[in-house]
Amino acid sequence: MTERAALRTYECDGLAAYRCTPGLVVLPRSTDEVAYVVRRCHDLSVPFVARGSGTGLSGGALPLGDGVLIVLSRMTRLLDADIDDQRAVVEPGVVNLDVTRAVQADGFYYAPDPSSQQVCSIGGNVAENSGGAHCLKYGFTVNHVTGLEVVMPDGSVERFGGRAPDPPGYDVVGAFVGSEGTLGIATEVTVRLLRKPETVQTLLAGFRTMDDAGRAVSAIIGAGVVPAAVEMMDALAVEAAEAAVSCAYPEGAGAVLIVELDGHEVEVAEQLATVEAFCRDAGAFELRIAADDEQRGQIWRGRKSAFAAVGRISPDYIVQDGVVPRTSLPQVLRDIAALSKETGIRVANVFHAGDGNLHPLVLFDETRAETERAEEVSSRILDLCIEHGGSITGEHGVGADKKRHMGRMYSDVDLDVMQMVRCAFDPFGLCNPGKVFPTPRLCGERPGRRTGVHPLQEAGLADLF
Ligand SMILES: Cc1cc2nc3c(=O)[nH]c(=O)nc-3n(C[C@H](O)[C@H](O)[C@H](O)COP(=O)(O)OP(=O)(O)OC[C@H]3O[C@@H](n4cnc5c(N)ncnc54)[C@H](O)[C@@H]3O)c2cc1C
Repeated sequence: MTERAALRTYECDGLAAYRCTPGLVVLPRSTDEVAYVVRRCHDLSVPFVARGSGTGLSGGALPLGDGVLIVLSRMTRLLDADIDDQRAVVEPGVVNLDVTRAVQADGFYYAPDPSSQQVCSIGGNVAENSGGAHCLKYGFTVNHVTGLEVVMPDGSVERFGGRAPDPPGYDVVGAFVGSEGTLGIATEVTVRLLRKPETVQTLLAGFRTMDDAGRAVSAIIGAGVVPAAVEMMDALAVEAAEAAVSCAYPEGAGAVLIVELDGHEVEVAEQLATVEAFCRDAGAFELRIAADDEQRGQIWRGRKSAFAAVGRISPDYIVQDGVVPRTSLPQVLRDIAALSKETGIRVANVFHAGDGNLHPLVLFDETRAETERAEEVSSRILDLCIEHGGSITGEHGVGADKKRHMGRMYSDVDLDVMQMVRCAFDPFGLCNPGKVFPTPRLCGERPGRRTGVHPLQEAGLADLF
């Protein structure tokens, strides 16, 4: 694609605050076509960026004005489903949920379940090491990918791993998963298939306060129960979900907890009784257990729609993603509430409570000049995560958005080591440059995202649209 209007379709991913019209967009259908494009880029020193479905929330697939955007969404073939060995081999543009759809009749499924799973691609999941509600028990994408075919940044094609788990030597698959499109382009992915559990039970609990719900989570995990998922939402997030999808969560709840248990029937029945007891002890005033798939779907509808639902209660919002050790959750949530009060910026909290992965939704109104304050709150939440021994991202990646925070978490030596790994794959820095690693700012430029009119706009040399 070379037409300006068509190119603009690809100017951003799910983080629309960052936009850039790509120089050229290509939509290859095979590994050979990807390799051809990458080889040409390499020969001509043209940078390139891979894109799956463009649902990323950190600007990872943000294109380059002088580069090529390689969109994998036409590579959607399921190449093999080996039920006996519990492996599927898929092209990178295959949508996450389609892997499960392809094997569910045989009683199998693909476990990592980002909330975007109806549209996001396996290639994007690999690049971001995506997680989801059920990753507490089953692990992240990296735990479910055993092999990769990769078009390297010079256009050569390599294979790493295979169908067997844990091959000898360096774990190149482990290094590639989560590398955010900076080490090459995955053109074939071998994933694990899991047998569907015998029983699933889903419980919804309403609490008056987040502290009460937090106590229930600590008690459940502390007792050695490993639920498939433990998700929590605060009152503001519940209000948004209610407005968007009428999920009928307990009225007046200051916190809602969703606990899903799966496994053998007897084991799940016993664990369900334990979870119910812990919830009541912690002050749950309403408990519901899904009687069938429809009720289970109703319980999950509110949680799965939470990010988009926030648009119902705020014209603008930032989806933040950080991690803290699970035991620090109550303190960090109190600190976020204090920060919100201090700045007058509302924060809705949705999170994977079992593994401490927070998704604070920072609400603001651009027309009321709240953007800068909201960004400040969002950034200070990351500081809180670091202070408590956590991380600046749990599952959405660093991308373009958080590269400036990397120096807060890592020393220069750490960053140099990572750059050496990157250079081993991509010595000329052509593969998704300008992402993940902080770039030095110009002299006199203040840190943070640029606000106000750019000097080039002022001089009439550039337009912002
Ligand atoms: C409503 C909503 C809910 C979400 N919920 C979750 C969630 O629960 N958990 C979660 O982890 N994320 C979530 N996300 C974020 C996003 O969906 C994931 O990061 C997803 O993995 C991105 O996949 P994609 O195909 O859209 O990738 P893109 O956005 O197109 O790309 C993401 C990154 O992957 C790289 N890339 C893409 N394809 C390849 C490839 N074949 N080889 C190498 N690099 C490649 C790109 O260069 C970019 O850096 C959510 C997003 C939205 C909008």
